[in-house]
Amino acid sequence: MRFSSKLDKLPPYLFAEIDKAKRQAKAEGRDVIDLGIGDPDMPTPDFVISALCEAVKDPANHRYAMDQGMPELREEIARWYLRKFGVQLDPETEILPLIGSKEGIAHLPFAVNDPGEVNLVPDPCYPPYRNASVLAGASVYAMGLREENGFLPELDSIPKDVLNKAKIIYLNYPNNPTSAVADYEFFRKVLDFAEKYDLIVVQDMAYSEIVYDGYKAVSILEVDKDKRRSVEFHSLSKTYNMTGWRIGWVCGNKDVIRALAKLKSNIDSGIFQAIQIAGITALRDGDGHIKEMQAVYKRRRDVLVNGLKELGFDVKPPKATFYVWMKVNGSSIEFAKRALEKADIVCTPGIGFGAHGEGYVRFALTLGEDRLKVAVERLKKIV
Ligand SMILES: *Cc1c(COP(=O)(O)O)cnc(C)c1O
Repeated sequence: MRFSSKLDKLPPYLFAEIDKAKRQAKAEGRDVIDLGIGDPDMPTPDFVISALCEAVKDPANHRYAMDQGMPELREEIARWYLRKFGVQLDPETEILPLIGSKEGIAHLPFAVNDPGEVNLVPDPCYPPYRNASVLAGASVYAMGLREENGFLPELDSIPKDVLNKAKIIYLNYPNNPTSAVADYEFFRKVLDFAEKYDLIVVQDMAYSEIVYDGYKAVSILEVDKDKRRSVEFHSLSKTYNMTGWRIGWVCGNKDVIRALAKLKSNIDSGIFQAIQIAGITALRDGDGHIKEMQAVYKRRRDVLVNGLKELGFDVKPPKATFYVWMKVNGSSIEFAKRALEKADIVCTPGIGFGAHGEGYVRFALTLGEDRLKVAVERLKKIV
């Protein structure tokens, strides 16, 4: 059988060998500490589960949902946004619920791009920005994120001929995998740049609420107040431990939102309504949960970062996200293999997020403090 040549354009999967070694270690009964995946270990809060259980019993929720989501969900998102960022959103035109933010992120270039256009994608990055652009027929320009630049893209180094064809610039702050954050000034600079080259700014804020030490993440819509050319993606996945539920949203520029909604109306039929109702409850009543979650991740962060520092690794405590991005000597794949073979620890090699991720590994803080202490103890074997 022959399949679409689009699939051949996707980058090779680099972790087959490590995945196999991980499966094998687990099958052998070894006590593997898996800090590889960015999926919260803690359960969805009880009050959200209760809301789902009630909603699921109501036959009215069993039918096709509305493509654009329940008005009550969009209104709750607007209240959440105003409370968190002081930004006003029109629930009718400026908010579109998604079946998880990955779904919207991956569909966006199909609604926006034409062949011959270039999307500006950070490197390293969450893979869907790059891969969905490729599948949608756009070319990709990798904006290297370097530590000496705070893992922010260096806009001035992007060639003019690229900019003349550029359509989307992707940003993701707080950042996966580097855990870097961006301030108001940086977003101001991006927006001026986007204005000059007529770009759509796509900012992914999946980690907006996973912040520490009083840091507050900035929304691009605090800067692009008229929503001239920005959209921001949000997700309930990390904020409310709801990765499996599939619910998120995009908000901002109404023309971009309308284009994505039109595309999606041909592909899916919205989020199961009982999940939308549970999502409304999470957004409305979840601020206490967020505080508790932040305290848990902060303690974990301190255990891991302090432990790694004592072992002599070059690592700083992140201001946000549940990732620790650590510099290693040499190949990130070799480091990850050694960590698994010698210490039964899984971490993610940075090169899997793009060429500029080489020389780093990512640890996810998705296990308890006790396990992280054991992980630090075991890593002594590989320093
Ligand atoms: C986890 C993650 C998402 C996705 O979330 P879903 O809403 O579960 O699809 C989006 N962006 C980044 C950077 C993530 O790490």
